[in-house]
Amino acid sequence: MAGANEAVQATNDDASLCKRCAVQLGYWDDPYISLFVPKYERKTPEINRGYYARTKGVGMFIDQFMEVGENCQIVNLGSGFDTLYWRLKDSGRNIVNFVELDFPNVTSRKCYFIKRNKILLDKIHAEDGEVRLSSTDLHAANYHIVGVDLRNIVEVETKLVEAEIKFDLPTLFIAECVLIYIETIQVQRLLTWLAKTFKSSFFINYEQVNMGDKFGDVMLQNLRARGCLLASVDASKSLDTQKDRFLQSGWDGAKAWDMVQIYGMLPAADRQRIERIEFLDEQELLVQLFQHYCIVVGWKGDTFKDIDIT
Ligand code: SAM
Repeated sequence: MAGANEAVQATNDDASLCKRCAVQLGYWDDPYISLFVPKYERKTPEINRGYYARTKGVGMFIDQFMEVGENCQIVNLGSGFDTLYWRLKDSGRNIVNFVELDFPNVTSRKCYFIKRNKILLDKIHAEDGEVRLSSTDLHAANYHIVGVDLRNIVEVETKLVEAEIKFDLPTLFIAECVLIYIETIQVQRLLTWLAKTFKSSFFINYEQVNMGDKFGDVMLQNLRARGCLLASVDASKSLDTQKDRFLQSGWDGAKAWDMVQIYGMLPAADRQRIERIEFLDEQELLVQLFQHYCIVVGWKGDTFKDIDIT
C-alpha cells in the first residue's frame, strides 16, 4: 500500500510538469506554477491542449460558482501543487476560506515551497500577520493546507475543522484527476459524508471516463504499470455512472460532459488563440483523449443547481 500511495502522490509531479509546460507556452496565465515546479519539460501538443481544456473547463465552473455563491469556501481535494488560491487572489474575488487537502508527503512539499517563497507567502500573509506551520500543514487567515488521506473520513473531518471550515457555508469542492486513484467504495463514502455534512455545496470532478474501449484500456494499462491504479477502482465509468455516483451518495443533482463537449463550449476566440500556439499533427488523437476525460458536477441544496456552461 505504501508503494501504491507513493505512485499516486507522484501523479502530482506529472500533472504539475504538464501545467508548467502549457503555461510556459502561453496556453493560459499562471505566474505561480513555476514557483512550485522549477523544471521545464516539453510535453506533446495533445497533452498541452488537454490541460488547457481541463483548466479552462474547470475554471468556468469555478467562476459560475463564485458568481452565485456569497461568503463561499473552496475545498480542493487532492490539490497537489495547484495554484488556484493565488490566482483567485489576484482576480480580486472574495473567498471566506480556501482549504487544500492531499497526502502529507505532498502537502509537506507544498508547505516547503510556500515557506521559502516570498511571493507565495506574501499573498497568504496579506490577510493578516499570522501563519501557523507544521511540517505538513499550514494555517493562515483564509488559506489552509492540510495533510490527510482522503479515505479516512474521521481524519478528513478533524482536518477540516482545524482548517476552520464551516459546515453551514456554501462550499465548492474540486477534485481534479484525484478520485480515480481512490477505491470506488471509499469515494462513495467520502461523497456520502460530504453530502450529509454540508448543507449547500457544489462539486466539480474532472476525471477519466469511458475506459471500456481499446484506447481507454491502454490508458488504464499505463496507470497500472505506474502502480497508481488500485485493483478495486472501477475505471469503466460512463457519463451516466459518473452522475449516478453523486445521486446515489445523497447529492440532489448531477450533470456530466466529456471533454469533447467541454472544449466546444469554451470561448471560440480563446480556442482559436491556443490552436495557433502549436501545430497539431494528430487531431484524431486529441479527440480520443477528450472522449476519455470528463467534468462531472454535483450539487446539494438549491443555490447551485442552475450552474451550467452550455
Ligand atoms: N488536483 C491536482 C491537479 O490537478 O494538479 C493534482 C492532481 S494529481 C494527478 C492527484 C493528486 O491526488 C495527488 O496530489 C495525490 O497525492 C492526490 N491523492 C490521491 N489519492 C489521495 C488520497 N487518498 N488522499 C489524499 N490525496 C490523494
